[in-house]
Amino acid sequence: MTGTGRSVLLAEDDLAIAEPLARALVREGNSCDIASTGPQALEAALSGTYALVILDLGLPGMDGLEVCRRIRRERPQLAVLMLTARTDEVDFVVGLDAGADDYVGKPFRLAELLARVRALLRRSSSADDVVLDSGGIHLDARARRVVVDGVEMTLANREFDLLRCLMETPGQVRSRDEIMTEVWGSTDLRSSKTLDMHISWVRRKIGDDQPSRRKHIATVRGVGFRFDP
Ligand code: CA
Repeated sequence: MTGTGRSVLLAEDDLAIAEPLARALVREGNSCDIASTGPQALEAALSGTYALVILDLGLPGMDGLEVCRRIRRERPQLAVLMLTARTDEVDFVVGLDAGADDYVGKPFRLAELLARVRALLRRSSSADDVVLDSGGIHLDARARRVVVDGVEMTLANREFDLLRCLMETPGQVRSRDEIMTEVWGSTDLRSSKTLDMHISWVRRKIGDDQPSRRKHIATVRGVGFRFDP
């Protein structure tokens, strides 16, 4: 057993996919339950039993995006990995917009999926009691709250991790590779494009898109990004 020993909920109606994947997750030292409809998946996900939900996009009863949105409302810290056969970019963005932490396209390679699972479980278990206060932005890692000029903002998991990553080193440039490794656990091209999308979402949420405001996140051309307090 080399695994992380966590409880994983696998929401997948295709048993030809779900059963071998569940066995692989158990081999890695996790426990795994299978839900085969959207409503079942949602109920199980909200039970508080699981550290991670692997969520198929196409589920009967309620689709994976809706399940994910509802999970996010009730349990913002629960890690969600989306499985999807539709890999075009719109669905990708919509998937992240629904609050998934990561996604894997079908058909997937088992080794890659398991690596993503390990990365998500590692992140969700790290003890967080960091509070950062800089430039009118208050970020509380344990509560996963962000308050900008006295107003609480709702950030998706990756947006939160990205802002935290930048705020941890105020005034210092972080390279794209550093940020992608820290926030996404990889530096592949997909996460590179994802990084730019998330930067723009975070900028909007902290008010950087308003011309009258002082900008917090600076683009350092050819290198990466810097948080200016
Ligand atoms: Ca399905």
